[in-house]
Formats: sequence, C-alpha cells, structure tokens
Amino acid sequence: MKVLKNELFDEFKCLAGECPETCCYGWRIIVDDETKERIMEKDGIWGKCLRLCLSGPDKNFFNYDSGSCLFHGISGLCNIQKKLGTEYMPEICRKYPREVRDYGSFATKNLDLSCICVSKMLLERDERPALIECDEESGRDRHGSNDDPQFEEIVLDSQKELIKILQVKPQLLFDPVTMDRILHGLLAYCQFAQETVLEHKDMKLTKDDGRPSYFYELCKSDDMPDAGRSYFPLPIMALNRLINTQFDLQDSRPFSMINRTIEWYHHKFDLKTEIEGQKVWTRMVTDFIREDPSRMEALLRYLQYDIQQCYSEIYENYSFVHFAVAAIMHVNMFLFLMVNYNRRKKLTPLAMAKLLSAYERAACHNLGLSKDMYAIVCDYLPVQTLEFST
Ligand code: SF4
Repeated sequence: MKVLKNELFDEFKCLAGECPETCCYGWRIIVDDETKERIMEKDGIWGKCLRLCLSGPDKNFFNYDSGSCLFHGISGLCNIQKKLGTEYMPEICRKYPREVRDYGSFATKNLDLSCICVSKMLLERDERPALIECDEESGRDRHGSNDDPQFEEIVLDSQKELIKILQVKPQLLFDPVTMDRILHGLLAYCQFAQETVLEHKDMKLTKDDGRPSYFYELCKSDDMPDAGRSYFPLPIMALNRLINTQFDLQDSRPFSMINRTIEWYHHKFDLKTEIEGQKVWTRMVTDFIREDPSRMEALLRYLQYDIQQCYSEIYENYSFVHFAVAAIMHVNMFLFLMVNYNRRKKLTPLAMAKLLSAYERAACHNLGLSKDMYAIVCDYLPVQTLEFST
C-alpha cells in the first residue's frame, strides 16, 4: 500500500523515564474493549487493582479526572508495562504518539506533537522532516470510506505543493509578512477548492489557476485577496478570546509553563485599551521575528508538520476551509506563546518544543474546546463557521 510517512516516524523512541514531561498526566485514557476484556479476566491483586481504576460512566477509562494516571510510577515509567507487560496497557498508550490512518488506497503515518519528544525532534533537527512515500502495510483498520482516485490525487498533489511553498528564501525569515502571505494564500486556495468541490467541478483543481501555488503567487502581488486583514499576526483580541476559552484550564499543574506564559501576557496587556494593545502586539511580533530567523523557521516547521499530518484528512471530510482556519489558528497560537514566554525567559529550542507540545495537548485533543476556538477564529477571517469537522 502507498504510505505517506513522516520521516520522524521511524526515528521516534519514547524517552520513558527520561521524559521531561509525561503523557501520563492530564488526559482521560480510554480503555479499548479488548484490553478491558483482558483486565476483567485478570486474577490476583493486579486484576483487582486494574478493575478498581476503571472509571467513567461505562467504566472504560483510566484517569477519568485527568490528573496523573495512577499507574505512572515515580521512575517516570508505566507500572502496568513494568509489572504486567504491554498487553494490559490500553491500546492508546501502546500506540501513542503514533498516528496511522488507512484511507483504503493510501495511508498516512505521523507522530503527534503533543509528545515532547516529537516536538523536540521537529524543532531541533537540522532539516525539516520530509514526507516520504513508501510501500508498506498500514497495520490499522480502514479509516473512513471514500473511494475517489481523482480526488485522492488532488489532495495529495496539493499537499505536496503547499509544503513546497513553505521553502522560503533565508532573508524572508526575518519578515512577518512572509507568513501573512503564506496564510492568505492557504486560505484563498482552500476557499476556492471548497467551492469547486461543492460544485462538483473538481477538474478545476488540476489546472494551473486552481492550484495552491497560483494563490500563493497572487498573495505576493498587489492582488492579494482580503489584503486589508492580517492573518499573521491575528489581532490580539482574537488571541485574547482564544485563551479565555477553557484553554488555560487544560493543564492544572502549579507552575505549568503554558499557564505562566498566559499570566505574563495578562500582566502586560490587561490594562491596555484594544487599540493600544493591538499596537503593542504588532510591534512585539515584528521585533520578535526580526531578532532571530529560527523563530520564523519554527513556525514554518509547525505549519509544514500540520500539512503533513492533517491535510490528507480532507480526502475524507472534504473540508478544505476547516483545515486552513485551524492552521491559521495553530500558527498564531504558537506565535502568541513564544512571544509572551520570550518576554520573561530565554526562548531556547527546548522551551519552544515544550510550548508547542503543551499547546497541542491543550487545544487539539479536546473536541469541545477545538470547536469553540475554531468558531472564534472564524469571526476574524472572511469565512462562516462551517460545520466543524474532526
Ligand atoms: S510524552 Fe512522549 S517521550 Fe514522554 S513518556 Fe510520553 S510518549 Fe514517551
């Protein structure tokens, strides 16, 4: 089977006891039916202990209150794995952070950035990780039911083209306008593609003026669509509304990095009027990007990763616009966290990676929150809140 695999996929090795964060905190862990069956049949003290820890309405969760998983040992290792072996661990713990989607005629293999090790690999390696095409088994059940070779080609070709667009010249890394143009190009293409697909005129997307690079070139000229609105940075009021969702409650640990960063933002901005705050924010972003090109590079890597990981989902949900709006939000939220963290602490590559994985954990794994945040971003872009697709 054709598999599009992120280069990092085979390089990943869990940091286990050495992990500076942990994936055993802050998440409800669903226990799949097969593992639950094994747990129900397990005898002895361990069987009792596992069953006592099952909670939630259908008794199919560990860590239902999203604190620290009871099996997370002091050494940083999972006690189920240590004492009983992986077959008693929920499937999600065995596979995390690997994310495989089998679309029938092709599959994707990615790693989730909520794992600090993956964020570190993304931001610290010399080259951006590529999307490799290979021939191997997906090893997973089929995800979705679409069967449309022509649309598959459109999605996968436009994905490649969008990744190419992100290869900007080194001097452009110092200019926030670079990202603004890229995001305008992304949304303009996705809106066009969305309408075209709804009208069943898919062939238009294979023509030169129906491709992502055409829209990106347009955004580099005086004809940029929606030129009067900034997509990068988004207005500070939009970001303020985004963090005033339940976003900051996602990590309740005292001194959590993301919450401290939000606190520092409030200290700086809370007493300012909207106009003053916007001026300060625009200046802070410009200075931040101009100071060090590795910051724009980190944002471009994140955007590229998002395209590698999530864009192919359009093959199933046909929702180009949803992808673009979410991507604009992710890039801006990562920017927001980096800029505000950098005011008080040194923004090392490790700090960037920690912010990125904390953001992914908070915003991308809670459906209700993702919906709320999506709707807020739609208020600031020329799109309507379309039906939210997961
Ligand atoms: S967050 Fe990643 S590296 Fe850390 S323990 Fe979990 S899977 Fe391993």
